[in-house]
Amino acid sequence: MVEFTVTQKRRLRELNAPTELLIRVFEEVSERDAYFDKFVSELVSDNKTLVQQSINSRSRSSLKVIEKKVAEAVVPKGFTEVNTPILMPRSYIKRMGIDESNKLWKQIIWLEDDKCLRPMLAPNLYYIMRKIRRFLRPVRIFEIGPCFRKEEEGTIHSTEFTMANIVELAPERDPSVILQEMISTVMKSVGLKDYEIRESACVVYGRTHDILVNDIEVASAVVGPIPMDLNWDITEPWAGVGFGLERLAMLTKGLNRIKPVGRSVTYLDGIFLNI
Ligand code: ATP
Ligand code: MG
Repeated sequence: MVEFTVTQKRRLRELNAPTELLIRVFEEVSERDAYFDKFVSELVSDNKTLVQQSINSRSRSSLKVIEKKVAEAVVPKGFTEVNTPILMPRSYIKRMGIDESNKLWKQIIWLEDDKCLRPMLAPNLYYIMRKIRRFLRPVRIFEIGPCFRKEEEGTIHSTEFTMANIVELAPERDPSVILQEMISTVMKSVGLKDYEIRESACVVYGRTHDILVNDIEVASAVVGPIPMDLNWDITEPWAGVGFGLERLAMLTKGLNRIKPVGRSVTYLDGIFLNI
């Protein structure tokens, strides 16, 4: 019995062949190679049609559509958008309690001694919340934008990804209820109504509530106060959640990897261009 070679599997994966196909076995090498050639030529032809359709429809990319849907769902709920710098000072990372001993520290991309590409949005949101809460409560803000982490790029991780972070400080109601509402607002807005919330340990926040779709983490959420808040001069209760938008895009498109929907010169909104 013979399987597809590693190279053949890679090519099939790039062309979005169904997962069942990748594990197919054959009696002989010649039978496998003939099947591979025939299948690849069909997939290439399908991909060309998809590229044509995509260009002709002049549509926005799934990732940008998801960004828009999330923003348009949370604004009517009273959240204001902020746009903060992508370059982040080292001191903000330290104030998140992340130091050389954390896994996340090793994932940070440093540009100069005291600056990195932000691995998360939370530090900037903490900074802004502290300023606003002095004269206005509750503080409801959100940001959507690129984050960077050195990752072993698997199916659901990439070095560049897009986070949507939504937070409410000093809510008038129970922050756990606020959190559930935030999560359901976002998940409904992108059409993913079947999700599960599971608690897990986190080096930065202590405990997080992870939001999972088909066992894939799409977001992590936290209810404060937590000890780290004091580094930011925050003492009030809060609820916050950070979504990975490529993972949401992947799931809404029925794909099994985020690469095709992320920032890319190889894929056009999920469609492979090296054909
Ligand atoms: P994971 O455990 O999957 O590596 P995480 O718990 O380290 O993720 P968080 O810090 O909770 O990630 O970030 C919030 C969300 O951002 C995650 O739930 C995920 O959807 C997304 N995310 C985090 N890292 C990446 C990445 N490298 N590529 C794509 N999405 C990511
Ligand atoms: Mg997480």
